[in-house]
Amino acid sequence: MHKTYDAIVVGAGSVGMPTALALGEKGLRTLVIDMHPSPGQGENKHAIGGVRATHSAPGKILACLRSLQILSTWKQVHGDDIEWLQGGYLYPVYRQADADMLKNLLPLQKSYGLNIDFVGPHEVRAIMPGINPDGLLGGTFAPEDGSISPLLVANAYYRRALRLGVEFRFKEKIDQLLTGPGYIQGVATDRGRYAAPVVVDAAGPFSAPLAATAGVRIPVTPDCHEAAITEPVQSFFHCMVVDIRPAPGSKNFYFYQNLHGQVVFCITPDPPIVGTDKRETSVFLPQICTRLVHLLPRLKNLRVRRTWRGLYPMTPDGSPIVGWNREVHGLLHATGMCGQGLMLGTGVGELVARLITRTTTPEDAIILKEFSPYREFKGMEKLK
Ligand SMILES: Cc1cc2nc3c(=O)[nH]c(=O)nc-3n(C[C@H](O)[C@H](O)[C@H](O)COP(=O)(O)OP(=O)(O)OC[C@H]3O[C@@H](n4cnc5c(N)ncnc54)[C@H](O)[C@@H]3O)c2cc1C
Repeated sequence: MHKTYDAIVVGAGSVGMPTALALGEKGLRTLVIDMHPSPGQGENKHAIGGVRATHSAPGKILACLRSLQILSTWKQVHGDDIEWLQGGYLYPVYRQADADMLKNLLPLQKSYGLNIDFVGPHEVRAIMPGINPDGLLGGTFAPEDGSISPLLVANAYYRRALRLGVEFRFKEKIDQLLTGPGYIQGVATDRGRYAAPVVVDAAGPFSAPLAATAGVRIPVTPDCHEAAITEPVQSFFHCMVVDIRPAPGSKNFYFYQNLHGQVVFCITPDPPIVGTDKRETSVFLPQICTRLVHLLPRLKNLRVRRTWRGLYPMTPDGSPIVGWNREVHGLLHATGMCGQGLMLGTGVGELVARLITRTTTPEDAIILKEFSPYREFKGMEKLK
C-alpha cells in the first residue's frame, strides 16, 4: 500500500468535490482519485448549471436547500466567483392537470421550507417576458432557486480542499475496490494501492462497475442527455424555465440565460437513451429548438454556439443512492444523482461527511431514508 487515509473518495465530480471539501473541513485525512486530469471533468461539466430546491420529495428538498445556502453565499464567504445567479425556477403550465399537480405539491414543499408559490398567467408573463400566452394557466415560481457555473464551482471546491490538506490524484483510474472479508480496505488503481477504512463511491455513471469489483450490485445506469449554449445577447430573463409537457420524442425541457447572456438548454429524451455514447446527435437541436421557439418565440434568431452530450447516473426511481453498504463495511455510496447531481452534490457532500464522523442530524434521517441503497426503488417522484 502506498499510504493510509481516513477516507478515499472515488471521483472528483459534482458529488466527490463537495464531499472532499466537507471531509477536509472535519480534519479527516482524505484522498480523492479521478481518472480525468482535473476536477469536474466527468459529468459535472456537462450540467447546464441549474440549482433548485423545487422538488416533490422531502429529502431532495432538504439536501438542495442546503446546497442553495452554500452556493448562494459562496462568493461572500470564500471569495471565488462561481457565477451564482438567483433567477428562480419557473414551471409554466398550459394543462389543467399540470396546474393541479403543481398546486397539490405546494403544502409539502412549503412545509420543508421551500419558498414557492403558484402565480397566475399575468405574473408568469412578467417573470418570463415574451412567453407564449396561448392557453397559459400560470405556474409555480421559486425565487430563491438559481444557477452556477459547474466548472467554476468544482475548481472553487478544489482550491479550498487543497488548502485544508485534502490530497488529489488525477489521471489515475481505480481498477478495484480492495476488500477483506466483509469490509473495505482501500483501492487499487492503474498506478498504485491506497488504504482507508472508508471508501466513498462518488463515481457517478460508473458506480455500478466500480461497486461490482467489491461484489456489490447497485442500480445505477448511465443515460445520455444533450444540451446546447447560444451566443450571448442582452439579458432579458433571469429564471430557469421548465416546461413539463411531453412532446414526440421528449419529456420536459429546461433553459435559462446565464450571467454572460447565453441561453443554455437541455431536453429529456423519451424513451431514454441508455448507454455511455457522448457523441452529439442531429436529432437534438431540431427537436428542442421547435419546442423552445414555440414556448418563447423571441428566441428564434438566436445562434447556437455549441452542443454537447453527457450522462445522467440514473436510478430506477429517479432518486439518489446515499448510504453505507451493508455487505461491505466502510463502503459508502453517494451516487445515482440522475439529472440533479450539481444541485444535490453540495448538500450530499456535507451529509456524507456527517455519516463518516457519526454526526448525522434528525433532518439527515429524512434524507437518508429517501436515498437509501436498500429502498424498494419503486415509484417515481411526482415532479420527475
Ligand atoms: C446535459 C446535462 C445537463 C445537466 N444539467 C444539470 C443541472 O442543470 N443541474 C444539476 O444538478 N444536474 C445536471 N445534470 C446532471 C449532473 O451533471 C450529474 O447528475 C452530476 O454531474 C453527477 O455527479 P457525480 O459526481 O455523480 O458524477 P461526475 O460528476 O461524473 O463525477 C464522477 C467522477 O468519478 C470519476 N470516476 C468514475 N469511475 C472512476 C474510476 N474507476 N476511477 C477513477 N475515477 C472514476 C469520473 O471520472 C468522474 O469525474 C446534467 C447532466 C447532463 C448530461
